[in-house]
Amino acid sequence: MNGRPKVLVAGAGALGLTSALLLAEAGCEVVVQEPGAPGDNASGIAAGMLAPVFEAALDPLVRPHFDLLAAARDLWPALAERTGIALDRTPALAVGDAAWLETTLAQVRQLGADGHAVARAELEAAAPQISPTFREGLAVGGDWRLEADAALAALRRAAADAGVGFRAGAVQSGQGFDRLVVATGASHVLIGLAPELAQLSPIKGHILRGSGTLRAVVRSSGAYAVPSGAGIAVGASMEPGLADRRIDSGQVGRLRAGAARLFPALAEAPMTAAAAVRAATADGLPLAGPSLSPKVLIAAGARRNGWLLAPLVAQVVTAWAVGAEPGPYAARLDPRRPFSSPG
Ligand SMILES: Cc1cc2nc3c(=O)[nH]c(=O)nc-3n(C[C@H](O)[C@H](O)[C@H](O)COP(=O)(O)OP(=O)(O)OC[C@H]3O[C@@H](n4cnc5c(N)ncnc54)[C@H](O)[C@@H]3O)c2cc1C
Repeated sequence: MNGRPKVLVAGAGALGLTSALLLAEAGCEVVVQEPGAPGDNASGIAAGMLAPVFEAALDPLVRPHFDLLAAARDLWPALAERTGIALDRTPALAVGDAAWLETTLAQVRQLGADGHAVARAELEAAAPQISPTFREGLAVGGDWRLEADAALAALRRAAADAGVGFRAGAVQSGQGFDRLVVATGASHVLIGLAPELAQLSPIKGHILRGSGTLRAVVRSSGAYAVPSGAGIAVGASMEPGLADRRIDSGQVGRLRAGAARLFPALAEAPMTAAAAVRAATADGLPLAGPSLSPKVLIAAGARRNGWLLAPLVAQVVTAWAVGAEPGPYAARLDPRRPFSSPG
């Protein structure tokens, strides 16, 4: 490689765009290629939670990796500042029956995170329309949020400002480039260039958006609600094995019921549904780093936490691309790591 490394990034989701930005900042000559419309992917419809605490507390698969999730979150303030992405650091809430709240609070505290019980008045201040069945809840600090579609647009602008070029169409090879970064989400189409994509399995997810007032993320055992633009988003289904983006009325109905349990006013309110596909590995962590194929790097497989993990994935991929030290989390994210069962 002479002069600036030429890097082709396949995919303009959160992982591809963040990687492209960091690669350009590290001195690479970067082109992002994407066949779809901007934001028409999992990154564009996501709820935008940057939530190491509740994700680790509520999801046993990623609980052992709380340190890694928290490290990824801690990269966000610097990234947000240079891209103009707004971070909402309002403490996140959880509501549910007493036993669920007690277990969840115990998990939060076991992580060493900051969590405490809150009274009805505090729930109402953050979520004025919350169901009267919830007399108390809990709050955690350390889980943040962004608006996914706005963040994607901001990343794209920042990447362009850093000199990243954009072109349309599906990548088929990395010919003409020193490195190819495969950031194609749940797609297996580049598996011939990156055999480690075989570890990715799809998990389809639906999310609903409607109007209403909400000032904090609200978690519950069946659904979560987040502020979204001027309204509320309620998510999200987890449909393992499904890789299509068709709207399924059964899943919409279940999410709507979850929405109504949290906010009775949403039972009949108009809500729009969107669906997209997450890519997941068997250990719950993404593939970030080199493929066994020469010159190919992978940035994919971030499951429910692609926005949270994007700066860490991009940092590791960039370090590998420019021959720098990839840092303490690189081994856990290495696409060549052994998996005990197929993802
Ligand atoms: C309903 C829902 C809610 C979510 N909520 C959250 C949340 O609150 N917090 C969080 O952190 N994460 C959340 N996620 C997960 C998060 O959205 C994903 O982990 C993340 O968006 C994955 O980003 P990505 O860049 O890997 O993939 P994607 O966003 O899917 O982007 C991949 C891109 O690659 C492109 N592509 C495919 N094939 C090619 C090719 N051959 N050449 C070039 N480009 C190609 C696709 O068109 C696509 O644009 C949510 C996901 C869903 C579905």
